[in-house]
Amino acid sequence: MLKQLQAELAQRAKSGLMRQRRVLSGAQQPEIDLDGQALLAFASNDYLGLAHHPQLIQATQQALGQVGVGAGASHLINGHHALHEQAEKTLAAFVGYPNGLLFSTGYMANLGIVSALLGREDALFADKLNHACLNDAAILSRASFQRYAHQDLAALERLLANSHARRKLVAVDAVFSMDGDIADVPRLLALCEQYDAYLLLDDAHGFGVLGQQGRGILSHFSVSSERIIYMATLGKAAGVAGAFVAATPVIMEYLMQFARTYVYTTATPPALAAALIQSVAVMQQEPQRQQHLIDLIAYLKQHCVLQHWHLMPSDTAIQPLWVGDAEMAVRLSLKLMQAGIYVPAIRPPTVPQNSARLRISLSAAHTQAQVQQLIAALHQAESELA
Ligand SMILES: *Cc1c(COP(=O)(O)O)cnc(C)c1O
Repeated sequence: MLKQLQAELAQRAKSGLMRQRRVLSGAQQPEIDLDGQALLAFASNDYLGLAHHPQLIQATQQALGQVGVGAGASHLINGHHALHEQAEKTLAAFVGYPNGLLFSTGYMANLGIVSALLGREDALFADKLNHACLNDAAILSRASFQRYAHQDLAALERLLANSHARRKLVAVDAVFSMDGDIADVPRLLALCEQYDAYLLLDDAHGFGVLGQQGRGILSHFSVSSERIIYMATLGKAAGVAGAFVAATPVIMEYLMQFARTYVYTTATPPALAAALIQSVAVMQQEPQRQQHLIDLIAYLKQHCVLQHWHLMPSDTAIQPLWVGDAEMAVRLSLKLMQAGIYVPAIRPPTVPQNSARLRISLSAAHTQAQVQQLIAALHQAESELA
């Protein structure tokens, strides 16, 4: 086995696809210390700058003093703390539901939802650009896994029309994580109604960013339906960790009973639930954060016009700069790094072949001057590389 693993690692290194970790010191914010180098970063998913917000820190510290660190048990034994209960209610109310269910990560939430709701006789219909964990969830569930080309709803309709599955679930990223474009939820919902399917919306990159006060994709489109299973992750715009699910009461009860990644795992530290309650409070108290982010997105789109590389169509905090060639994307990222700016290159297999890009992610914590600095550095890099 070791020989085989070594050969695979060598192959990966030869293709220039070896990944490396860089060590972050200090807080997650635009100006970071990465491997000892001071960098201006456009890389995190901390879209509202809440990861180091004083109100979240203070609530966490206070809760730690009162309830300690570890939850000590799973939710269904005696790890379900009053703070978890309050966070679930607060998060759910914010997106328009009476109750929510907290999972320890978004990855676990998707695995739990799909494998609880679907089995061998069922089918999952999935956009080809969905996040990896939705694909893993499909495999774990043993349901028939039917993928359609990105945002091709005519293709989805053909699959739905031809399906004889007992239960049908359509799953999409509400905002696609490597492209930044938004799923057409109203049309997806109409198809689900027509073909008696349900709709799992993974709002990892929409929650906190889209909709009124950051209420996410449902608010963005003003939709609600018994057919929707809403999932949002809490380690991105919410600035903390974990995920929550909201859906019609029968589905909520079913997930609490049968989602194995909910049942068979230790509850997250209750102090993090205290932080989450403050995330929702800050989103409502400081709407200027969301507005500033929207302004920065518009500013970047207007001013970042290069000759060889272009921003992909996106109105969200994820603003990928299309490069195409993987090696060039890496060279561009390194060139920016030398100029003190960190934007990660995203290459296959994370994205399709020949679609390598720089994944610029904006945050309300950035200033307009910092975005200007990025644009200037990109122009400079282009004149040297392309
Ligand atoms: C980040 C992400 C997840 C996973 O969430 P974690 O809480 O980081 O495990 C799931 N879906 C999408 C679309 C994501 O971008």
